[in-house]
Amino acid sequence: MSETEKILTELGITINELVELAIAKQKGRLVILPCKVGDKVYTISRVDCPCEICTHGKEVEYSAIQCSRLYGETYKCPPPQYNIDIHVCEGFTIHGDADGNPIVSEPGEWGYEGLERFYGCDGNIYYDYDVAKEAVEVMRNNS
Ligand SMILES: [Zn+2]
Repeated sequence: MSETEKILTELGITINELVELAIAKQKGRLVILPCKVGDKVYTISRVDCPCEICTHGKEVEYSAIQCSRLYGETYKCPPPQYNIDIHVCEGFTIHGDADGNPIVSEPGEWGYEGLERFYGCDGNIYYDYDVAKEAVEVMRNNS
C-alpha cells in the first residue's frame, strides 16, 4: 500500500471516491458545507435599553431612542446586553454565481418559505461557542 493509499484509508475514502469528487469539482457540482446538518451554530443578539436593568425600560417599550429622548438629559440607559443564541443547523441553500459556480448559504432552519437563515446583530454566524464569546467581549468593550 502506498503512502497516499494509507492516508486515504485513514480518512475513510477510496481513490475512486476521490476521483469522483475531483470530477464533481471540475463540473461545478461540489460544495463544502461550513458545518454538518444537526450541528449547533451561534448568533449574537443585542438588546438596547435592557428591560431588567433600565429603570424606564418597560415605560419606553425598551426603545433606547425613546428612553434617551425622554430622560437623556438626566439619565443614561445601561449599556446594551448581548446574548449568544444557540441554533441547530437544519440545512443550507445552494445557488450559483454568474459563472454557475455553486454558492452555499449560511446555515438556517426550515420554515414555511424555505430556509430561514440564522441572523445575528453583527451579521455573523459562529461555528464555535468560544469564538462567539470572544466577539461578545469585543462588542461589550466597544459599547
Ligand atoms: Zn433605557
